[in-house]
Amino acid sequence: MAEDGTSRMVAPLPAPVLVNSELAAHADLEWQVDVHWQPNHAVRRRGLDSRELFAEQLPFMPTWARSSRHGATYGSRRYDFVLAGTRSENTLARVALRHLSLAAWVRAKAAEHDLSALPSDAGRRTSLLAGMLGGRRRYVDLFGGPLLPALRAMLATSAKSNVAYPDGEGVSLSSTEGVLTFAGICARTADLALADVREYADAALRAGVLRRGMVLRCTTCEQKQFQTVDKLGQRWRCARCDALNDLDRHAWKLPADEPTWFYDLHPVGRHVLSEHGEVSALLSAYLRKQRKEQRGAFIDLEEIVFLQGNRPQVEVDLVVYTDDVLTVAECKTPGELTGKERKREILKKCRAAAWLRADRLLFATTAEDWTQATRILVENAVASFSEWGPLGSPQVEFVAGLGRMDAEV
Ligand SMILES: [Zn+2]
Repeated sequence: MAEDGTSRMVAPLPAPVLVNSELAAHADLEWQVDVHWQPNHAVRRRGLDSRELFAEQLPFMPTWARSSRHGATYGSRRYDFVLAGTRSENTLARVALRHLSLAAWVRAKAAEHDLSALPSDAGRRTSLLAGMLGGRRRYVDLFGGPLLPALRAMLATSAKSNVAYPDGEGVSLSSTEGVLTFAGICARTADLALADVREYADAALRAGVLRRGMVLRCTTCEQKQFQTVDKLGQRWRCARCDALNDLDRHAWKLPADEPTWFYDLHPVGRHVLSEHGEVSALLSAYLRKQRKEQRGAFIDLEEIVFLQGNRPQVEVDLVVYTDDVLTVAECKTPGELTGKERKREILKKCRAAAWLRADRLLFATTAEDWTQATRILVENAVASFSEWGPLGSPQVEFVAGLGRMDAEV
């Protein structure tokens, strides 16, 4: 298993010898060998062929292979160098195959169009958070799940705490950054029982995506700052001027008795939210719930950029493969996908969907609804796009109200 989830056969398959001796007597007979992968673990068909399917990239391929309905199909005969007089069994191809992760598959499809496909800057940030949390699923559960309103509230709307957090359960550290108490988190995740909030928060704390600490003021430079529990002691050091301070009432001011714990979101998490990267996580969580077979595999990939040489061509927010349906999705917050550039923008997504032979092109938003004008614009743009393959355009779908409990298609 490679880092990106691609798995390779460690040894070649046995030679595909014919069991029927009458058939086997025909030296010039060639047949096709089907290899089945576990259901839904790799992207099927869609024209991916040869090189990419072999476990090792050899200068001469021993035979041909292509992605098929259930896995891979390859030709029985070796067509690399075979000496005259070789025993017939040794003229058969012995191949080791690999099944590509979604990321590797997208790269392979991009390469067919002389493009490269890489995680965008946003994609690198979400991968980093997924790595900290222990996997993409956990990332989606946190950033596309019930704790999201609390995480969003950590992007302060004002430098004044009483404006940004009128309930007194948060403190603004700047005009854009704030921290919340545990009660403040609970108040913003009203659908969730307290014990569940605790469980989510603890998992995020263990991962370092949330950090517990105190808001303190330095006696020397007067800087208000968040100090994590890991750095606290009776004496704590100012992050700005390095002065040593005592952990006493002057440092935390209120309440009069004991300091309060606050929760801070990791800077990379803040960056994701400030660019609305959580909309892709919300869509991923939504599509996972929607799939036909709840137990069927669900694989997805976020924030990819297609490049020609060094020049970015198209960015895609989310690619999902489930129930043998490949979806290319565009995620928007209210107010996006408006303005003059929007048709060009939609045509770019069409290009990406055509390269990947997507079955579905999906536009998702956290807004209450897609306007009729936007729906028509998208449908016209898709119909006018001239590079769809022989199967025509993918199905176009809209999702609105993402993040509400009852988001609808
Ligand atoms: Zn200081």
